[in-house]
Parts: sequence; C-alpha cells; structure tokens
Amino acid sequence: MPPKSPPASTGRYPFEDLLLNRPGLTRDIRMHLGRLGQSYLFIGPSGSGKFLAAKAMAKAILCPDGGCGSCGVCLAIEDGSHPDCTIVTRDGATLSVEEARGVVSVASIAPALSEKRVIILPEAHLFERSAPVLLKVLEEATTSTIFLLSAEAIPLYIVPLASRCVRIDVPLPKKNEVFDYLLSLGIEDSVAELATSVSPNRLDRAYAFATSPDAQSAISLWGSVIERLSDNPEKLAVLCGELESTLPANPTNRARTHKRNSAKLQVDKDGVSQVLSSDQQAQLIRLERRLRSDVLRAGLESVLKTVVQKGSRGEVTPETVGQVEELILTASSQLKRNGNETVLIRALVFALSSLFF
Ligand SMILES: [Zn+2]
Repeated sequence: MPPKSPPASTGRYPFEDLLLNRPGLTRDIRMHLGRLGQSYLFIGPSGSGKFLAAKAMAKAILCPDGGCGSCGVCLAIEDGSHPDCTIVTRDGATLSVEEARGVVSVASIAPALSEKRVIILPEAHLFERSAPVLLKVLEEATTSTIFLLSAEAIPLYIVPLASRCVRIDVPLPKKNEVFDYLLSLGIEDSVAELATSVSPNRLDRAYAFATSPDAQSAISLWGSVIERLSDNPEKLAVLCGELESTLPANPTNRARTHKRNSAKLQVDKDGVSQVLSSDQQAQLIRLERRLRSDVLRAGLESVLKTVVQKGSRGEVTPETVGQVEELILTASSQLKRNGNETVLIRALVFALSSLFF
C-alpha cells in the first residue's frame, strides 16, 4: 500500500512530480490520499490536465511508492493495462448505457494485486444517457473500489453523480507549468518555448504543437518569408504553395475521405497502428483543427518577430515595421473568424511584398 503520509525523507508524495508541483492541485490530492474517500470528480476546462490529475491520483493510490511514475505499476496504469485500474473509454459521442453496464461488472470484481480497485471515468459531462446507471454503481460499490471522474462542467443530468463525489478543481495551468510539462516529456527547450507561446494555458494543444513535425517545419519556413519576398508573382505563388503545404492536413477533408472509404482513422502509437473509436476520431479531428490554426498563428508571429528584429538593427524603417504589424493583426483576426487559410496566406504574402518592392 502507498504511504498514508508523504515519506519523511522528502516530505512530498512522489506523484507530485507527475503534476509538476501545481501547488493547489497537489495539495488537494495529498489531503485526500491521507483519508481516501470513494469517489472524486476532477473538474476543469479542456486542456487543464484533469485526466492527467486523475491518472496521477490512481498512481498515488496503487503504486507502492506513492506514484513514482516509473515502476511497473505506474507504467501499466499509464497505458491502461493494470488489472486494478480501469480507464473507461466510449465508442460514441456520449457514454452509452451498455458501456456504463460494463463499468458495473468491473466495479464488482475484487482487486487482483492491490487493496484497491481504481476506475477512471473521463469526460463525465458526456454521461447524459448513462449517468443513472453509474450513479447506482457508485452507490453500491464496495469500499475497495475508488472512482475518479473528470468533467469540464456539471450539466443537470450528472448533478446526482457529482454530488456523490468529492470535487477537486483543476484550473488551467500557468504558462511556466505548460513549459515544464513539455520539458518533462523530453521535448527540446526551443520547441517547448514556441509551443508554450502558441498555447500558453492548454496542455493538450501545446503538446500537439510540440510533437508535430509539420509545426516545426512550418515555423522555420514562415521565419524565412521576409527574405523570400520578391516582385515576381510566380515566385510569390511558389512561396504561398510551400506555406500552405506545411500546414498540418485539414482534418475535415481527411475525415470526409475516410468516411467515403468507410475506413477508420488510424494513428501510429509507438510504431503500432491503432484503429480509433469514433469518439477518439472526433477528438483527434478537433485537436488537429486547432493545431492547424495554432501553426498558422505561430507562423504569423514569427514573420512579425523577424521584421521587428530587422527594425531594431535598422534594416527596415519603423514605418514598415508598423505596416507589417497591421497586416499580421488583420490576418490574425481573419484566422480567428475561421477565414479561408489559402486566401489568407496569399493576401498576406502579396501585401507584404508590396511593402518591400
Ligand atoms: Zn510507481
């Protein structure tokens, strides 16, 4: 069993490192580990890391070292293969009654290796149909079963479920916490810095950006845009084409193609191609759509940065810097309004050229 209080040698639970010492959050979890209740609800906006927090708490409960993050138990929890920790997934947009019944049967099995069984239920705000079934599970489960739910909000239909749980608030992380999180995953300083500047308060979006090879090559190309401006429209058209091709694939088009082929989207995880459930596909598409606009936004920022640097070296006039700034602002606001990216890139590149030639 994990220690009931943090090891005296450090005064901290090891799991706190998994959450990068977000003080409020780790303090809450620490408090509950000392006297473990039966059900918890992690609540916070998308990208705040509530699922990460639920997994860290599961590790703290089941790992013999209080959530070291690296032992067999912790690694098995992470990849969903630990016999005493179930991460409930769903196939549709909401958790179905059938899927909830699956939880009923798991909840009644005694833990195999530990004193506790942990059941993680992500995205409880999508339990519209299954909430009554789950409420019954929570009420009837033995004390050895611990439920860790997470949700972005508490819609009416999960109010009874939520009222059975101890609430743990997960605020959006601060910029430095997102940066530290990326570093802890072994991501390079410069990449982590760029990803954090694009998504300063969202763990999932910053991570998607930092791990996208498309994003990296796009940014270096955008950094060279000013050097490549010309009075030759053909050259500019080539540049526009290159800029467009570095944007991550448009997920909407891709989803359409896949639908037509009635194939399922696949992702490569550790070299293994996995078929995704329709819910996971929808999630992936949402994340990729955001990644596309994040990449474009970072590209615009990098053009502006190049011009500001040139301005400080006296290579362009302050007036030109101001004009570029205005063009970038216009493009950014078009992007926010979901403007057409191809049109946006072309308009920007040609307008920039007319400033310099
Ligand atoms: Zn461990």
